[in-house]
Amino acid sequence: MASQSLKRILIKVSGEALAGDGSFGIESQFLDEVAAQLVHLTQNGFEVAIVVGGGNIFRGMSVAAGGADRVVGDHMGMLATVINCLALGDAIRRQGGKARVFSNLVMPDVADHFTARDARQTLEEGGIAICSGGTGNPYFTTDTAAALKAVELQCDALFKGTKVDGVYDADPANNPDAKRFDQISYDEVISRNLKVMDMAAFALARDNKLPIFVYALDVAGGVQAIIEGKAFSTRVG
Ligand code: UDP
Repeated sequence: MASQSLKRILIKVSGEALAGDGSFGIESQFLDEVAAQLVHLTQNGFEVAIVVGGGNIFRGMSVAAGGADRVVGDHMGMLATVINCLALGDAIRRQGGKARVFSNLVMPDVADHFTARDARQTLEEGGIAICSGGTGNPYFTTDTAAALKAVELQCDALFKGTKVDGVYDADPANNPDAKRFDQISYDEVISRNLKVMDMAAFALARDNKLPIFVYALDVAGGVQAIIEGKAFSTRVG
């Protein structure tokens, strides 16, 4: 269970989640719900950083599979994350919150270039720091960007929303007897070959002792319910 000792957190929102019931683009109702939950967290004293994926618009691997240059494809994927982050920033402001969109790709007309110093300042001032453009490098994922930003911004924990409410010992979609862990160590995740995040992201979290909370994206009350122990999640740490 999470606890109130968490103050500064990073939430990873996958691009697919923003598509809501569809598989492409952004569903505005879901976007507004996510924004409202984030604003609520800051109103309750939490400092909130966000990394958003781009899978609802584009993934580099998909063009690479067709023979195109993976680096170009990944640049397109990172641009997709910027689109999502701009939409989320706007939704947060419409809900009365403060948000600043940073990017690891340089695009001064669109977003502020990410520096840990500026993003930390945004958090200290009660604003939501939205980190777009992934790590800025091809061959990485936004999971890795999330772990990296969480470490750089000295977050107390990383929250990774998924379709299920935690880490299970087998795929709960195919196995009714699958058991959810309340807590699990980094080493056990590796030895049991459980999928939490990709290896680069996971190694970064483990090496920096960053706890990862895996929770269900559609949980009532959102991350706040997890922090207050009112909803299930798995704490990896
Ligand atoms: N991407 C990248 N470097 C990064 C992060 C992302 O090249 O540091 C690209 C990559 O092509 C990826 C796409 O951006 O497929 C979208 O990110 P991701 O697949 O992680 O999004 P999600 O699955 O979370 O929606």
